[in-house]
Amino acid sequence: MTSALDAEVGRVLAADACSGCGACTRLDPGLSMRLDDAGFLRPVRGAAPAGAAQDADAAARFRGVCPGVRVDAGPAVDAGGHAVPRHPTLGPVLRAWRAWAADDAVRWSGSSGGVLTALAGWLAETEGVAPVTGCAADPAEPRRTVSVTITTRAEALAASGSRYAPVAAAAGPGAEAASGAFVGKPCEASAVRGLAATSGAVAPLVLSFFCAGTPSQHATDAVLASLGAPSDAPLVRLRYRGEGWPGSFAAEDAAGHAWATSYDESWGAHLGKAVQWRCKICPDGVGESSDVTAGDLWRTDERGYPTFTEGDGTSALLARTPRGLDAVLRAIEAGVIVAEPVELDEVAAVQPLQRARRATLAGRLLGARLAGRPVPRYRGFGLVRLALAQPRAAVRAGRGTYRRLRSARTGTTAAASAVPVATGDPGATGGAP
Ligand SMILES: Cc1cc2nc3c(=O)[nH]c(=O)nc-3n(C[C@H](O)[C@H](O)[C@H](O)COP(=O)(O)OP(=O)(O)OC[C@H]3O[C@@H](n4cnc5c(N)ncnc54)[C@H](O)[C@@H]3O)c2cc1C
Ligand code: SF4
Repeated sequence: MTSALDAEVGRVLAADACSGCGACTRLDPGLSMRLDDAGFLRPVRGAAPAGAAQDADAAARFRGVCPGVRVDAGPAVDAGGHAVPRHPTLGPVLRAWRAWAADDAVRWSGSSGGVLTALAGWLAETEGVAPVTGCAADPAEPRRTVSVTITTRAEALAASGSRYAPVAAAAGPGAEAASGAFVGKPCEASAVRGLAATSGAVAPLVLSFFCAGTPSQHATDAVLASLGAPSDAPLVRLRYRGEGWPGSFAAEDAAGHAWATSYDESWGAHLGKAVQWRCKICPDGVGESSDVTAGDLWRTDERGYPTFTEGDGTSALLARTPRGLDAVLRAIEAGVIVAEPVELDEVAAVQPLQRARRATLAGRLLGARLAGRPVPRYRGFGLVRLALAQPRAAVRAGRGTYRRLRSARTGTTAAASAVPVATGDPGATGGAP
């Protein structure tokens, strides 16, 4: 018999609204995350471990947790009842800085300024925060990305750099550890907040980053293939960027063969084109549910587009909550981060994708609904107001979405609204992450 939770999860999967965050597996130990045929992590039902029980309120909690069901904008007031200023593109922000890790090795290794790595290492090693959860290459198969627990600065360094591939960061216990810190994508930050809110618990300190979306795992294979790396090469290392800003996609096998290409080429030609549907209709690429968010403070050309020329990594760093502000100020005081104030409009100006996506999203959502595709509920983002400010772009985006979804439906059968059952056959699921 299908449980109420399975029916809820099945509806999200049927609408292709799953972000692969993994939070639903926290509600039921019988759910786990598997790569599907398209190369994205999705929940599947397997055998629950002996004695494991589904949360009694699982289905109700799911509706307040899953970013495929709903996402709320960051809070308009803080815990003390004070209004939090809201930027139309960047959401609620108490203070903003241009920032980088004080340690040159961390700054070099990080995606942009290495600020998340610096914060994670300092919180774990000096502040005694535990667990600190991040993501890193799977040591056994660096093509894949896994969740890791960071206890030292060295472990934070090993987990530095953006990984443009599926990883269910909210599936681990760190997502619900009130004493810990959690680094994850904006959808995962929202799910972590939901897990705390629906159980009356305190959320971990949530660190997030600007996010253009999760590419299929197959796109990593496509970059490697384009570089001539054999598909069975036993890799010992694979990075997507970092080690410079933006750094390179770089892989190495056990025999010392190395393959590399620029960030611009790997993201532009492969990874960025393979982003899942849910990310294309995301209202929050800027991490509104986090306490602290980092992003690239790109250098731009005269039209405002990022140039991706190599340089010393520089992050935009946003404190969104009093708890996040306190953590950043203490990290600056401790000499872990170097930071100077920055105007929010300057940050938004170098993030053309985030600006455009938010401004046209209402059109896209309408186009999707008219084409018969259910979409998640988004509250507090002011999407209609933003679309009315750029009506032609929003209508164009809506029309394009409608056409693409209608033509994709032709000749396809509707997805069943059920949670697939894990068969143990890697061919059926694409293999475990
Ligand atoms: C999928 C994805 C999309 C992105 N899109 C944008 C964008 O649109 N605009 C922009 O400015 N920047 C984007 N970034 C880059 C991100 O903003 C930078 O990582 C950010 O500037 C932080 O830089 P940093 O040097 O402080 O990070 P680092 O010090 O390198 O730390 C990065 C942290 O993120 C964690 N992490 C890495 N990959 C993942 C992942 N896939 N899921 C969960 N956690 C992860 C790591 O464990 C590490 O703790 C994206 C990153 C990712 C992973
Ligand atoms: S978005 Fe997250 S919580 Fe929702 S179904 Fe997908 S993995 Fe589960």
